[in-house]
Amino acid sequence: MAAEKASCSKKVVLCEEDIPRAKLPRENVEECTVPQLRRWLLCGGAKTSGKKADLVKRYKDYVKGGLHLKNLRDPDGGVHLARKKVLLGVMDEVDPPHVTDIFPKDGFHEDLTDLPFVNFGTVWKYMIESSNAKKQLSTAKPLVKGFNFFKSGNLVKVTVCSRENKWYLKSQVLPSMKKSSVYNCFILLLPNGHIKSAYCGCPAGVDGRCNHIAAALFGLEEFCKQREKQQQEQTSRTSQPCTWNVPRKRKGEVLPISQMKFKKHEHGKEKKAKERSRI
Ligand SMILES: [Zn+2]
Repeated sequence: MAAEKASCSKKVVLCEEDIPRAKLPRENVEECTVPQLRRWLLCGGAKTSGKKADLVKRYKDYVKGGLHLKNLRDPDGGVHLARKKVLLGVMDEVDPPHVTDIFPKDGFHEDLTDLPFVNFGTVWKYMIESSNAKKQLSTAKPLVKGFNFFKSGNLVKVTVCSRENKWYLKSQVLPSMKKSSVYNCFILLLPNGHIKSAYCGCPAGVDGRCNHIAAALFGLEEFCKQREKQQQEQTSRTSQPCTWNVPRKRKGEVLPISQMKFKKHEHGKEKKAKERSRI
């Protein structure tokens, strides 16, 4: 395995930084939780069974032998390797037909700071309400699938170009199965955050309401949510009531959704889990 990796220097090879949670969050392994250890072992190609003491021992053995780096693998269906290829520009891109005459050819950048506010209502309105009434039944599916695509890290990149009060967005979304190419999605956004039109390179993207477009829209929604939160924290810190003696909620950094972890409630854990699965 190691020799194989070393010999293919031209091939894109994953490293720990490319895989969410492939590194332990704390230096002291004993302080890490069982799920954190299991994730680490999984990424390093090790067995993940056993009690915490077994996992810690295995961790130490692997680190000693450097095995976790030799055996490093993508535990999430190949999405991280595909992402890396897209970001390195070595992945085939599929453009939607006839979009180039509507969208600018250059001037796209990654700074989304001034983007109009996109929220779930906007996404719903575009994906469901503005869709052709005859197709109403099939439109909720891309919404659900798109959200899952987004959460699984299939949305790789979003760039923007604003011209004459219109926002032209280009995003790259990986397909669910064969990750040998990436779809380019183009979205035209109005200053009020409404989606004017969208185009995707996939075969189902003709009407601009496929899973990939939905994934890109959820990415924008999440970005706007995080941006608003950050702005609120920055501007209203002094005008807020006393907060230093209030138990603080743990706040994570702003992360790509593929790296996000959903909070686990210890109390009534099973009940919550059941409730969520019912939704
Ligand atoms: Zn598509």
